Amino acid sequence: MEPKIIAVTGGNRGIGLEICRQLAELGHHVILCSRDLANGISAAQTIAGKVEARQLDMADEASMAAFAQGLANDFARLDVLINNAGLISSSVGTPTVTLAEMQRLFTTNAFGPLMLTQALLPLLRKSPAAGIINISSEMGKMSALGNGYAAYRLSKASLNAITISMARELQADGIVVNAMCPGWVKTDMGGANAPGTVEQGADTAVWLATTDKVPTGKFFSDRKEISW
Ligand code: NAP
Repeated sequence: MEPKIIAVTGGNRGIGLEICRQLAELGHHVILCSRDLANGISAAQTIAGKVEARQLDMADEASMAAFAQGLANDFARLDVLINNAGLISSSVGTPTVTLAEMQRLFTTNAFGPLMLTQALLPLLRKSPAAGIINISSEMGKMSALGNGYAAYRLSKASLNAITISMARELQADGIVVNAMCPGWVKTDMGGANAPGTVEQGADTAVWLATTDKVPTGKFFSDRKEISW
C-alpha cells in the first residue's frame, strides 16, 4: 500500500500514541500531535518509523490554525485525520453538571474535532482517498445516556452527531468520515482496571485509516459497525 500521511491528535500518550506506533510500523508518515510539543517529541522518539511531532491544542483556535497552516506549508495533501484527543470528567449527571464542565468537555471532545477538520479540509481534499476518524465512545450512544458522566457522554454523543453530519456533507468530495469506540482500555483515562490493552484500543482506528473502501457515516467497534 502507498504510504499515507496521517495526523493523530492527542498522540503523546494512551490510545493516540499506540495508533501512531501501529501506523508508523505499517510504513505510514505519522504526524503525532500534542498540546505540549515537548511531550510529543519525547513520545515520537519511542516510535520507530516516520513520525514527526507537532503542537496542537484542541481547545485553542489559534493553535489549530497554526497547525493547519504548518501542514499546508509542508505537505501536498493530508490523507487521514484521526481526532483522538479527549477528556473525561466527574461522574455527575445532568441534574448537577455545571456549565463550565459541559463547555470544557464539549470544547475538546466535540467542537475541537469539528473545527480542526474544517481547518484541514483544503489539505484533505487534495488526497485521492481522504478519511476522518473520530475516536468516540459507546458511553455516548443514545441507549447509554442518562447514567452519570453527563459532560463526557453528551460531548461524545455530539461528536457522533458531528460525524454523521460531516459524512453527509463531505460525501460529494469523496471524504469518508466515521466514528469508532476503542472499548474500555488501560490508559490514564481508562484506568488500571480496564480489561483492554492500548493495542486493542488502537486496532479499529488503524484498520479504518488503512483499509480501502470503508463506508462513511458509521460507528465502529472491534472493526464492526455498531448502532449510534
Ligand atoms: P488519555 O490516556 O487520557 O490521553 C488523552 C490524550 O488526549 C492525551 O494525549 C492528552 O494530552 C490529549 N488531550 C486532552 N485534551 C487535549 C487538548 N485540549 N488538546 C490536545 N490534546 C488533548 O486517554 P485515552 O484513553 O488514550 O483516550 C483517547 C481517546 O479514546 C479519547 O477521545 C477517549 O475519550 C477515547 N476513549 C477512551 C476509552 C478508554 O477506556 N481509555 C474508552 C472509550 C473512548 P495531554 O497529555 O497533554 O493531556
